[in-house]
Amino acid sequence: MSWVDTLTQGRVFHEERDAPRFRKAFAILASTQRAWPAPRDFLDALPAFQEPRELPRLESEASKERAKAEISKLEAMLRTPTPAQSKKPPLIVVDDFPRCCINGTRDRPLCDDCKAEAIELHGPVIKFKKEALNGPTNP
Ligand SMILES: [Zn+2]
Repeated sequence: MSWVDTLTQGRVFHEERDAPRFRKAFAILASTQRAWPAPRDFLDALPAFQEPRELPRLESEASKERAKAEISKLEAMLRTPTPAQSKKPPLIVVDDFPRCCINGTRDRPLCDDCKAEAIELHGPVIKFKKEALNGPTNP
């Protein structure tokens, strides 16, 4: 069995991947051995295969824009919709005046209907008399 056959017995090498390892192994062996190495020695000198490190990611302006657009979409999905103002606030008339109801006027703030209802509920209106507060007036 040739040197190469022994080396490749049960092993697979890829030129692109393993050429640098082979060069390193031969460099090591050339500095330590005088004779052509045995396949065993060669394999011992062969550096372990290392997974190529991931290259730093290059961020293009286009990919940044795509990312921003995707983030905006997600934000829109997560945003809770504000309740629409379905009802208009009640109209407030600033120059209104105290009155029983809409039928009361400035001259007659208590309309007949409300007056009748009040009498029915609370009895007849007792007229205010000054004498009741101040006591009997002296003649
Ligand atoms: Zn009224």
